[in-house]
Amino acid sequence: MEEIRKKLTEIGKKIVEKGLVAGPGGNISAREDDFVFLSPSGFFLDEIKEDEWVKVNLKTGEIFSSLRPTCEISMHLGIYLTRPEVKAVIHTHPPITIGLISAGIKFKPFFPDYVAILGKEVPVIDYVVPAGEEIRKAVCKEIKKVNVVLLKNHGVVAVGESIKEAYTRSLIVEEAAKSILAGICCGKLRYFTEKEIDKIENLEAEDYRKAILKNQ
Ligand SMILES: [Zn+2]
Repeated sequence: MEEIRKKLTEIGKKIVEKGLVAGPGGNISAREDDFVFLSPSGFFLDEIKEDEWVKVNLKTGEIFSSLRPTCEISMHLGIYLTRPEVKAVIHTHPPITIGLISAGIKFKPFFPDYVAILGKEVPVIDYVVPAGEEIRKAVCKEIKKVNVVLLKNHGVVAVGESIKEAYTRSLIVEEAAKSILAGICCGKLRYFTEKEIDKIENLEAEDYRKAILKNQ
């Protein structure tokens, strides 16, 4: 059994445990060479067994499973074709993030891990119909230059050079959302200045942490 299946099963459980999806919501995948392993359609992410991840040939689209892949397959494959270095795509429905972006609240850096893990820019895409070409086009356009995209009235797409890196980004988005919510409920949230962001981007210690995440 491929190691990638084991890692996906573990991360699927964590995503549900952390409340980043509920029920059969969200979908995740990982890439190994020309093959992508996707969550099967209709399954809860914490109930997918190692042999149930749907293997698909990225180049030909051939499916090696009796199960149907997630209905967001087109978006997942589109991302891998757009960003060859990406090894994992995690699409979640985190409630606080969805609430904030759908109310028009912007996500901007305001704590060190935000900058180090999510990056300076976290764009929001206006609502598009899920499960098809529209969402694939909208996400692929943005994902060329960022690692996290927020989908208004829908959720989050995070990518990474490892499953763990994509998962960490998904987690930090919702953690940031909780802090933004707390901050704006209590007063005016202070965001980082450009100078503060630059300093974190240039920390050697952050380069080391990033390298560790990419290789897990
Ligand atoms: Zn979704």
